[in-house]
Amino acid sequence: MIPAPCIKEIHIYQYDLPVKNGPYKMANASVWALDTTLIRVVTEDGTEGWGETCPVGPTYAEAHAGGARAALMYMAPDLIGAPLWPNLLQRKMNNLLNGHNYAKAAVDIAAYDALGKRMGLRVAELLGGAVTEKVPSYFATGVGVPDDIAKLVASKRDEGYPRIQVKVGGRPVEIDIETIRKVWEQIKGSGMRFAVDGNRGWTTRDALRVSRECPDIPFIMEQPCNTIQDLQKIRPQVSHGIYMDENSLDLNTVISAAGTGLVDGFGMKVTRIGGLTNMRSFRDICEARNLPHTCDDAWGGDIIAAACTHIAATVRPDLCEGAWLAAPYIDGHYDPQNGIRIENGHIVLPTGPGLGITPDISLFGAPIASFGG
Ligand SMILES: [Mg+2]
Repeated sequence: MIPAPCIKEIHIYQYDLPVKNGPYKMANASVWALDTTLIRVVTEDGTEGWGETCPVGPTYAEAHAGGARAALMYMAPDLIGAPLWPNLLQRKMNNLLNGHNYAKAAVDIAAYDALGKRMGLRVAELLGGAVTEKVPSYFATGVGVPDDIAKLVASKRDEGYPRIQVKVGGRPVEIDIETIRKVWEQIKGSGMRFAVDGNRGWTTRDALRVSRECPDIPFIMEQPCNTIQDLQKIRPQVSHGIYMDENSLDLNTVISAAGTGLVDGFGMKVTRIGGLTNMRSFRDICEARNLPHTCDDAWGGDIIAAACTHIAATVRPDLCEGAWLAAPYIDGHYDPQNGIRIENGHIVLPTGPGLGITPDISLFGAPIASFGG
């Protein structure tokens, strides 16, 4: 029997990621800088694994940066000596703390990174195998002036992005409808797929109106309204596909939404669902029901971007709605050489073992907390 590699040390770091040309605007939030949390796990043989979690401000989800660090510091002492096998580690964390998926995700990602480095395999291989070396991404606009957004979308179409996501909500719905029409003028006939993301910001009244006034435009509505009940209410009345994002908090919700036919797909975030272990289960549930989905994260730097890229590379290609990365909005990389970059709307899957990222540890300063050793 091969002995399980065990966690010997856990180090937690805090880092401020600057947003380029901030703020980034969504229906309920404006973001100037991101407070990210990184963890470095060291195994008994000295192998290192990195994880990250970065809520996009405190109002996007039931998650905030201070909460992630508090949860990690609470769990860390009991994780020293724990085996790195991802499912066992998930159960261990669940026995220590209820919920707080976004904090557990950092440990889970670090475990995959360390396992991959130790075994000489990429995380995508540990997740079942990459089907592509070039992962499609998509561009997400902020909420903005219709003509400005249409112009931006045209430039992203020319860059080679296969999909665009336009943010709406938090303003009169007429302006959202005008934005949708102007964007469609730019992408009609290009093959670019079109998502309209309300980030929970529309009332059901607004969502119904948008669908009725734009029957000729083939967009999907991503998380148009606030609650699952809102989605159930509009579902029989709209002609557009509905994707669930913010409401899909855990695998149980995903199973219900997929099983009852409430949605046509998902926007999914690796940290919200609890890391790569749960993301792998989510991917397989979606494949069983032929539901397309993204592999995103809220925000974050190269570590989280690499995690999203590795899982997205394993998704059945016709169901892969791409990996959204914060990289285009963030200044700098943790790994100046192999940092994750989007080129022509696609991301090259890193070639090195684990996540394929070697962060410059000097960027992060001293850890805010260290355990084990
Ligand atoms: Mg979304």
